[in-house]
Amino acid sequence: MYYRLRHNFRLSIITLLGASAVLGITPFAVYRFWQGNVSAGIADSGILLSICVAVVYAWRSGDTDRAGFVLALVAGGGGVTVATLLGEVGLFWLFPSLITNFFLTSALVAVLVNLGALAFLMVQGVAFSSQEQMWSFVTTAVVVSCCAYVFALRNDSQRERLEHLATMDPLTGVHNRRSMDQELAAAVLAKQRNGASYALVVLDLDHFKRINDDFGHSVGDQILIAFVDVLITHIRKSDQLFRFGGEEFVLLMPGVDHNGLEVVMANLQRSLRRSLKSPAGCPVTASLGIALLQEGEDADHWMARADEALYQAKSNGRDCIIYADALAEAVG
Ligand code: GH3
Ligand code: MG
Ligand code: MG
Repeated sequence: MYYRLRHNFRLSIITLLGASAVLGITPFAVYRFWQGNVSAGIADSGILLSICVAVVYAWRSGDTDRAGFVLALVAGGGGVTVATLLGEVGLFWLFPSLITNFFLTSALVAVLVNLGALAFLMVQGVAFSSQEQMWSFVTTAVVVSCCAYVFALRNDSQRERLEHLATMDPLTGVHNRRSMDQELAAAVLAKQRNGASYALVVLDLDHFKRINDDFGHSVGDQILIAFVDVLITHIRKSDQLFRFGGEEFVLLMPGVDHNGLEVVMANLQRSLRRSLKSPAGCPVTASLGIALLQEGEDADHWMARADEALYQAKSNGRDCIIYADALAEAVG
């Protein structure tokens, strides 16, 4: 639970706002019934119930987009209902909803909900005691919405930037090991659920240390970038490339069988030999270890088999491709 709250921003916002709304609204709902204002009490209870349902739905389904959207509608609609029923006193409730909508759903939807709520109250008019009060309220509500809009946009862009920094390799622009772990786990799950087939290819540049030693680190960097460029031209949209670390990369390929893979990998190896050169004109080669995901296998075991195949490729003299499955058959 703590993990999900820490790693899912929208879920944490939905939970936090849900909890504050329940704590904030419950005493007022009780008070309205006690006062004899049954309609306002029912409205408060309806809002409370909808919030609880949306929070539970978000936790159970993981669909925080839909839950956030519904909560924004509940907040906007609830604010309008309370303002209509209670007049001036109820208008105050619209302010928290105007702000929180920007954290519950997309900025565009939040703007539309807020404008819709304000327009509805203005046309209906019963919540305001005078024209002056109506315009004062609408102006302050628009100012508050604008501030929340700017804040939410900034928050979104910073979160995206942080996510990008945490999951991408800055040198080559491909995903890093952290995202690889997540994708491998997802592939294992997909295999368990629907028998999907996946291949894992571990690629390691041969004698890369020599390139750095002979030509310098920045030339080594350029070769890593060129290596990734060649890989990208050979993979499909559905394939995913990760930098595992140093000069070692991992390709995750869904929906492939052994025969198809052999053709693709042989083409890739030819291209690498042809296009990847050191400044002295010598070919820079790579060794590849490949493992197809097996029934009931976990990500660590899968990776270990691909790694073992790579180790074998290095032992065989490098610049070669070894399939873990063929390796197992040979040993068996
Ligand atoms: P092998 O064929 O057995 O794989 O030999 P190797 O020299 O490629 O392997 P080794 O693990 O001995 O050396 C890897 C080198 O990769 C050492 C390290 O300095 C270099 N390296 C790791 N990351 C980077 C990087 O981001 N840029 C550059 N230029 N070099 C890197
Ligand atoms: Mg190497
Ligand atoms: Mg290495």
